[in-house]
Amino acid sequence: LEETVAAARKVPPDPTGMTSGSAAIDVRGLWKVFGPRPEQVLNGPHIHLDPTTLLARTGCTAAVRDVTFDVRDGEMFVVMGLSGSGKSTLVRCLTRLVEPTSGDVRIAGEDVRAASPAGLRALRRHRVSMVFQHFGLLPHRRVIDNVAYGLEIQGAAKAVRHRRAEEILSLVGLAGHAASYPDQLSGGMQQRVGLARALAVDPQVMLFDEPFSALDPLIRRDMQAEVVRLHREVGKTMLFITHDLSEALKLGERIAIMRAGSIVQIGTPEELVAAPTDEYVADFVRDVA
Ligand code: ADP
Ligand code: MG
Repeated sequence: LEETVAAARKVPPDPTGMTSGSAAIDVRGLWKVFGPRPEQVLNGPHIHLDPTTLLARTGCTAAVRDVTFDVRDGEMFVVMGLSGSGKSTLVRCLTRLVEPTSGDVRIAGEDVRAASPAGLRALRRHRVSMVFQHFGLLPHRRVIDNVAYGLEIQGAAKAVRHRRAEEILSLVGLAGHAASYPDQLSGGMQQRVGLARALAVDPQVMLFDEPFSALDPLIRRDMQAEVVRLHREVGKTMLFITHDLSEALKLGERIAIMRAGSIVQIGTPEELVAAPTDEYVADFVRDVA
């Protein structure tokens, strides 16, 4: 039986590098245009102009330009790009915190763009959780109640959510801090609470938008190690956004490089270092070599 299961799990290699069907996150041809007439711009002759000219001619910004990628079940996938390259817009499109202008987004096979309001609420409450740079903790709630917050929204009973929150707090090394308030903790510890809160709802997918950018370098290193450990332990699908290439290379099983709204390369850290196609990546690799 074990052999049969093992054989069934062995997926044949796909030459396009895209996983069909079973991808945890599947994004195809995604566009987000900000401005007065996003649809007209997208369907008109201006869309392939460079960003500055596009903005001058139409008053619109194409923050995400025809982005296609997928994240495999259980994968740690990093999107790296400089500030303004469209990373936050991209990640917000996944749960429609930002409404895409065009393209296809699927989470665990479900068509997010076709989701009903109730389906979207369920997606955001139960299936996808986010960790932000500014931790977004509730200042007047104890740590444990911050962690339990998502479970409370889901309607879990108090005893259940506290038991679960205690469990998750020990998982992120904060067992002794359940009764503290967020402002009694350091930045690094507050972000551990953010991690715990995102984990507590047992989501299918975790999205991280530059969660460590505001932390001191040494703390940031600890937190990177923490996320790698958590990923190994809980095996969740994670999409991690950063502007820091060394962070991307440390965390990512695969990395997408984003520039001016487009993904210009996707590869493993080894592939990116061996054959970078983006000049920023190439410069960086040359500098650390
Ligand atoms: P990043 O997260 O990589 O720094 P963003 O996704 O925040 O990039 O922004 C990408 C581009 O989209 C930027 O040019 C930004 O000014 C523009 N942008 C982001 N949000 C909005 C918005 N709500 N309205 C207009 N332009 C926006
Ligand atoms: Mg951002």
